[in-house]
Amino acid sequence: MRIWFFSGRQVLWWIFTCLAVGIFLGTGGDYFLPVSGNLSREGISGRTIIIDPGHGGIDPGAVSASGVLEKDVTLAISKELEHLLQRAAVYVVLTRQGDYDLADSSETNLLQRKRQDLDKRVQIAEDAQADLYISIHANYFPSPRWSGAQTFYYEGSGEGEHLARTLQTELVRHLGPNNRLARPGDFRVLRNTTMPAAMVEVGFLSNPREAALLAEAEYQRQVAQAIFQGLLRYYRN
Ligand SMILES: [Zn+2]
Repeated sequence: MRIWFFSGRQVLWWIFTCLAVGIFLGTGGDYFLPVSGNLSREGISGRTIIIDPGHGGIDPGAVSASGVLEKDVTLAISKELEHLLQRAAVYVVLTRQGDYDLADSSETNLLQRKRQDLDKRVQIAEDAQADLYISIHANYFPSPRWSGAQTFYYEGSGEGEHLARTLQTELVRHLGPNNRLARPGDFRVLRNTTMPAAMVEVGFLSNPREAALLAEAEYQRQVAQAIFQGLLRYYRN
């Protein structure tokens, strides 16, 4: 009985096609995005967006067991996101460009310093009359098993909630399986800003695998790309 209907050449061609389709789909559909991206850019270009890299200076934020500092991760991702947004003709303001906080240099009380630092970040956004405020942070939990990006908004903020939900959808889509949903969070920078605002916790530094990823330039680019796609989608809706 004859089982094989294909010549060796046909089988090879079939394997090649399967591989090509697999590689294509394996990108998570990124090849489809430029079309929607171009449409969305019309909605986002000309906007003023504040990117707020969490912590800085004497405040490292969370620190992973291996020594990855939240302040470094947030700044690197913020700069990647700035680059993507500038290419889409967005006017971007980073609340900090380097490793420092925004409190008065004379302030020695740490709690006061933190408060001044956060108020200054809000002030930058208000002075710029920004359209949107995105704060970038990384999460930490006593148990090392939690992972995944999560976005927060100020309860009852309407547009802020819509923004956070849109960003969360794209973070899950681009960074892999994650059951987390956008949640309300009572954070000073979300509470005190008057424009739509969201805080992205890009992952857990308490999770060794995720901490290692967050320290990698390539993964930082992926996170920035996910947030960027979320912003395009937000302005398209
Ligand atoms: Zn933080």
